[in-house]
Amino acid sequence: MKIPSKINTYCPKCNAHTEHTASLYKKGKERTLAIGARRHERELHGYGGQKYPIQRKKAKVTDKKTLVLKCSKCGRVVMREGIRLKKLELVR
Ligand SMILES: [Zn+2]
Repeated sequence: MKIPSKINTYCPKCNAHTEHTASLYKKGKERTLAIGARRHERELHGYGGQKYPIQRKKAKVTDKKTLVLKCSKCGRVVMREGIRLKKLELVR
């Protein structure tokens, strides 16, 4: 699906419709020393193996694309959850 890179939409900080620049959200890098990651690694040690089932057969072939909208006036960043798409393309 093609999406314009500049969208006129509501900004909660300006309390008005302003121009936003759109970009695609990407998950950040996971911290290796976060408490959950340390605990998970610890649980895998010793007898008993994997503690929860790993999802191997995915039902969905697409994923939801999240748009990151940045207000051109104040700089407030708003996320917009999108619909399921195989491919999202930003057009000028
Ligand atoms: Zn704004």
